[in-house]
Amino acid sequence: MSVVSCPRCQIALKKARLGLICRNCEGCWLRFEEFDRAVLASEDSLVGAGLKATLSPDSPEIDLTPAVHCPICTKRCRRFPYLVDSGIIVDACSKHGMWLDDGELSAIRTYCRLNDCMPDEPKKKVGLFARLFGKKA
Ligand SMILES: [Zn+2]
Ligand SMILES: [Zn+2]
Repeated sequence: MSVVSCPRCQIALKKARLGLICRNCEGCWLRFEEFDRAVLASEDSLVGAGLKATLSPDSPEIDLTPAVHCPICTKRCRRFPYLVDSGIIVDACSKHGMWLDDGELSAIRTYCRLNDCMPDEPKKKVGLFARLFGKKA
């Protein structure tokens, strides 16, 4: 696979066991099945997968206002509120996956646990992302 660059910093993303992570802004790029696994996984296994840095929102001064472009196809990502009322805004390419800025993954994990909306087991193939685009609430 060719080099995939951070949509915010334009530097090469580092491969984690789950997804790709930027060592500068600490955002991460996840394919949809990886995203479901990242939401379901324990914190320990995310740390083990190399995603520790993205869990705490402590990146240096990163401007999060510009639109994100998919690092795979370079199309502009769709920006939308995650599960409508969580207050978390995520950027996603409907074909390739989603970009989560530093801290967003743990915010989503917390939201899902508090609101009892965990994705089905991955084997069922209907993940959170399908629910995101398929249904309103
Ligand atoms: Zn970055
Ligand atoms: Zn794309």
